[in-house]
Amino acid sequence: MTIAVEEKSLSVLAELYPDVPRSIILKLDLQRRGIAFTEATAEATSEPYYRGPDQTAFSGKDPNHRPFPGPLLLRDGTTVIASPIPNQFENPYTIDYVDGRFRILDDGRFIDEVDFSPRPEFYGKTTSRGVPMESIAWSRPQRLDIYPYRYCHYWDTKDQCKFCAFFTDIKQQKQLAGDAYAKVVDPEDIYETVREALKEPGRYSQINLTAGTDYSGDIPFEKEVGRYIEVLQAIGRNFATRRFPSQLIAPAYTKRQVKRLYDETGLSSYCPDIEVWDRELFKWICSGKEKWFGRDYWIRSALHAVEVFGKGNVYTNFVAGVEFARPHGFTSIEQALDSNFEACEFFAKNGVVYLSLVWTPWKGTGLGGQKQPPLEYYVRLVRGLVEIRRNYGLSSANDDFKHCGNHGDSDLERLN
Ligand code: SF4
Repeated sequence: MTIAVEEKSLSVLAELYPDVPRSIILKLDLQRRGIAFTEATAEATSEPYYRGPDQTAFSGKDPNHRPFPGPLLLRDGTTVIASPIPNQFENPYTIDYVDGRFRILDDGRFIDEVDFSPRPEFYGKTTSRGVPMESIAWSRPQRLDIYPYRYCHYWDTKDQCKFCAFFTDIKQQKQLAGDAYAKVVDPEDIYETVREALKEPGRYSQINLTAGTDYSGDIPFEKEVGRYIEVLQAIGRNFATRRFPSQLIAPAYTKRQVKRLYDETGLSSYCPDIEVWDRELFKWICSGKEKWFGRDYWIRSALHAVEVFGKGNVYTNFVAGVEFARPHGFTSIEQALDSNFEACEFFAKNGVVYLSLVWTPWKGTGLGGQKQPPLEYYVRLVRGLVEIRRNYGLSSANDDFKHCGNHGDSDLERLN
């Protein structure tokens, strides 16, 4: 990508865009450039108060897996999903630990204090079948993430999304974990894990499900829909109310399938991710989604879902920055902004929230090592997205700064 614009720093951008809080610009840049832990931070976050999961849906029982704590917590409560995975980033921010406090440093310069949320009480416990609960659910500050199916079949035909680093090595994960590592997570294990997690007073206000894609079934995606229904019904047994605060990030389904999810479970929001709006880039970057069954089908599915879940309860995420990927991506900031604002306007008009995620070109992915757009692009992007949604009376309550930690634009909505 050749983008002829000067790279402006965090402090310059904070002055240029006073309507975007510095913490949000910092968050965007932490996600864009990545983070690295010093040894002192790695040690401090391995202590019982912060210690992350020893085993996750992605790690199996990998002996090299480090128990990373959850997202960073900035001083204003903004959460930041960023992973300190070594050798991935060219110029990451450093998270250091000195005198009992975590600090963000940029090339040795102090940027801000930061923290992590405490280790949830269900980590370290097992289900009645002996499965570690921390391998079933991952904790963000106010949200539980569950991956009921640990595989994506787009990888079978090399049609995985080109930015995707999930489920990259199922064979290795199986070897590391032995026979106990199942693609399909047992709904009873999920039920028990959620039951245990909810015992911690006030800790969670949202349950999120996502997984790799399984398009199999007499009707495409039918097996997967059936699996999600079973899992959501199991989770729902923990609640006295019909609906519970939840989101399913999943493939695009037919209206009948979406209606089954709504009618047969307590699911409250649905999110079929479009990933990239431009028609030709979608075909290239998301060839699996293109095969099953193309961009128009994905868009139609989100629109139909609004008739079922209601305005504002259907989301679609896009990977902000991947629209610049070489060799087919945009080469100008204005072109990329126009494309994303067009998408946001289209979806907002139809009651769907179009939310950005900052692209990380992980080395193991099809676009690994490519360069991201400058920070100013992300600042202008989140401002524009929020303004468009505001004009249509839409908000991202299910995906706001407390619940997700992945979207600079829903963080910015706090000012609405
Ligand atoms: S659908 Fe795309 S982003 Fe999701 S797991 Fe599969 S390849 Fe990755």
